[in-house]
Amino acid sequence: MRFGDIELFLISGGRFRLDGGAMFGVVPKALWDKKFPADERNRVNLATNCLLVRAPGYIALIDAGIGERWEEKTREIYAIEDGPSLAEGLAAHGVAPEDIDALVLSHLHFDHAGGATNRTGRADAGRLQRAFPNATLYVQAAELSHARRPNERDRASYRAEDWEPYADAGRIEALEGEVEIRPGLRVAPLPGHSSGMQSVRIDTGGRTAFFFADAVPTSAHLPTAWIMAYDLYPVELLEGKKRLVDRAVAEGWLAIFYHDPVVPWGRIVDEVNGKRRVHVVGRDSEAF
Ligand SMILES: [Zn+2]
Repeated sequence: MRFGDIELFLISGGRFRLDGGAMFGVVPKALWDKKFPADERNRVNLATNCLLVRAPGYIALIDAGIGERWEEKTREIYAIEDGPSLAEGLAAHGVAPEDIDALVLSHLHFDHAGGATNRTGRADAGRLQRAFPNATLYVQAAELSHARRPNERDRASYRAEDWEPYADAGRIEALEGEVEIRPGLRVAPLPGHSSGMQSVRIDTGGRTAFFFADAVPTSAHLPTAWIMAYDLYPVELLEGKKRLVDRAVAEGWLAIFYHDPVVPWGRIVDEVNGKRRVHVVGRDSEAF
């Protein structure tokens, strides 16, 4: 999609499932199950909608999906689907992994960072390498230091092999707070979900696209109290989310929902009944 003087594309980084109760926190199943029907193991279908930003002078990828290097047991637990790879998705837009010069990770949970590395060929069997060899990986310093020493509650969400090959190559930039990484591409801490999650904002020609990461993982999480049980600091998340979603409505942002398999991006609008809905790009003939 053309967006000002840049191009934005959603690239699938793989589909998987997580426990519906964990995804919707204190929201009763009777409510969330209508929007995200649970399977026989109470899991709901999730996407990983990575954002490719093709701008004059740089090509950036926002989050890297779940990746493809999972062993059978993990594939089964998370119902990780075999689908087109991230590299195939990029190739459909004429972009090779070598072309990505900025890999921006909202945080380092494996469903956002897993696609950052892959396995080398037979000669080097089993060794993980950077999937984007010419990219610098941008993440908040607080997230990186927590990921190196996770606690008992979130240890299962981190895999050091997702980012270590970048650190070994001197290709991680650990950020402190709000930073404009490339012209018009800005990250800012969005606390609550993890120790150092960041949002990503793209401004071009008076318009804004906003990557909410796991603050609003699906469009079903737009109501303020629909907050995941995974969040480390839910009340802090709630404050930031409320402020940002209000701004998104007031300023007509293009909102990106990383985990939403049906409503990946669109414009959030107020309805007369006080609820909010999303005019989906390409479906509700919303022009951006
Ligand atoms: Zn996630």
